[in-house]
Amino acid sequence: MKNKVFYYGYRAISKGMIFATISCLYGCGHTQKTSKVSPNIIVIFTDDQGYGDLGCYGSPNIHTPNIDLMAAGGMRFTSFYAAPFCGPSRAQLLTGCYPPRVGHARNPGPSSPYGLNPNELTIAEVLQNQGYATKCIGKWHLGDAPEFLPTQQGFDSYFGIPYSNDMWKYHPNMPPKMDEDSLMLAIRSRATYTGFAGQGSYYPLGKGFPNDLPLMIDEEIIELNPDQQQLTDRYTESALDFITKQNKNPFFLYLAFSMPHVPLFVSEKYAGKSYRGLYGDAIMELDGSVGRIMGLIKDLGLDNNTLIIYTSDNGPWLQYGIDGGSAGPLRAGKGTLYEGGIRVPAIFRWPGKIPSGSISGLLSGNLDIFPTLVGLAGVKIPMDRAIDGRDLWPVLSGKSTMSPHNFFHYMGGSREGEANYLGIRDDRWKLMVNVDSSGVLVAKELYNLGTDVGERFNRLTQQPEIATRLRMEAQKFYDELSKNIRPAGQLSIASNN
Ligand code: MG
Repeated sequence: MKNKVFYYGYRAISKGMIFATISCLYGCGHTQKTSKVSPNIIVIFTDDQGYGDLGCYGSPNIHTPNIDLMAAGGMRFTSFYAAPFCGPSRAQLLTGCYPPRVGHARNPGPSSPYGLNPNELTIAEVLQNQGYATKCIGKWHLGDAPEFLPTQQGFDSYFGIPYSNDMWKYHPNMPPKMDEDSLMLAIRSRATYTGFAGQGSYYPLGKGFPNDLPLMIDEEIIELNPDQQQLTDRYTESALDFITKQNKNPFFLYLAFSMPHVPLFVSEKYAGKSYRGLYGDAIMELDGSVGRIMGLIKDLGLDNNTLIIYTSDNGPWLQYGIDGGSAGPLRAGKGTLYEGGIRVPAIFRWPGKIPSGSISGLLSGNLDIFPTLVGLAGVKIPMDRAIDGRDLWPVLSGKSTMSPHNFFHYMGGSREGEANYLGIRDDRWKLMVNVDSSGVLVAKELYNLGTDVGERFNRLTQQPEIATRLRMEAQKFYDELSKNIRPAGQLSIASNN
C-alpha cells in the first residue's frame, strides 16, 4: 500500500492512514481469515457488450464457444444489472455502491479534475490487504489524474488506457482538418457509414477530445495512440503473464477490455471471422482471450481454486448502428434505463463450488461483486459506510434460491453530489419515475418484466396499486440516498494546476 498524500480542496489526508483506520474499523476486530482457502479471482469486464451478444445469451450470429463453455461450467445470470454507461458502472463494480452514492455517476474525460474518491474502499484494496497480488489491465475510467489511477486504488500494477478508447483526437465529432491522416479519415468515414452518437448534444462538433490516447504502465505513459488492432491481444498477453508469475499468494486480476466499445478494432487473426461484421469479430477475439485464460488456469492446475467472472459494463451503443451490439429481446441500449441499457450478460465459473450449467434469473448486479468477493476472501463487509450490493455467494453456491435484493434501483448520469433517480424494480414489476422540483417521485411507466421483458406495454393505468407500492419504496430509498451521497474525488486547484 502506497502511503501517498492526497489533496482534496481544503484538507490533506494520508491514504495509508485512512486505509489503516478503515481496516481497523471493520478489520482489526473481526477480519481474521476463515479456514477456507481464498480463491484466485479474475473479473473480465467488457465494454458496451449487449445482453444478446453471446451464443449462450441467444446471439444468432456471433460464435462464442469459449464463453459458452464457461457458462456451461458455471452459473449464468439473466437479471444482472450494470449502470447505464462506462465510468459509473466501474465505480459500482469496484465499490459495491450505486454510482451516485460514491459521487461517480458520469464519465470523467481526459484530464478531468474528478475521479473515484481514494477514500472509497475498492475490492482491490480489500483483497490487497488480505495478501492478494492485484493487477488491473485495460480501461480504467475512474479518473486519469495520478491521484486516481489504479495503483492508488489497491492495484499493485496497471497496464491499459485510463479512459474510453474513443476519447481521443480521432473521435468522429472532431472537426475536419486540412491534413487529416489516414486513421482519422478511416474513422470519420466509418462513423458516417454506421451512424454515431452525439450528432446533437453529446460530444458536440469541435468540442470533442483534442488529446492523444495514452497507453500506460502503472503511472507512466508508455505509448500514445497505440495500435488498437493489437489492444485485445496485448491485454490478454499481459493477463497470461500476470497469472503465470503467481506462485505463492492468491491473485485478483481485473481485466477490463476496451472492446467492443467504438471505435472497433480487431487483430488480423479475427478480421472477417464472424457473421456479424466488425462488431462480431471483436467479440470473437474476446472469446478467444477467455479461452486462452481458461486454458492457462487449467494447465496450471488452478481450475478448482479460481473464480472467473465475465460481464459487461453496460448495454450496446445502438447509435453506432452495425458497430453497436444487440440487447437481444430487451428494449433500447446504452445510456438508457430501459432494460437494454443496463441488463447485461454475467457468468460466474468456479468448478466444484458453483453448480455447472446453472441459470439464475434472480435480481442481482455488478454491485454485488464487491460484497461477494470480500466474503470469499474471509473479510466481513465494511460497516463504516453504506454498501448497496449484497453477498451473492449463497445463490452462486446453490444454497439459496432467493435474491439478496428486494429491489433494484435505476439511476442515470448526474453531476457529483447529485442522484438522478429514475426507477425501481422488484422480482417482477418495474416502475419508472420522474423526480419533481420538491424531491417527490412521480410515477411515469410501469412494466411487468415477468411477462414483458421487452417493456412494450405500460401498465401504469391498469395497476395503480402496484405503482403506488413501488413508488413508496423508491421514495424511501431516494430520500436515504440523497442524504448520504459521499464526495467524489476532486483535485484541489493547486494540484490541478
Ligand atoms: Mg461502456
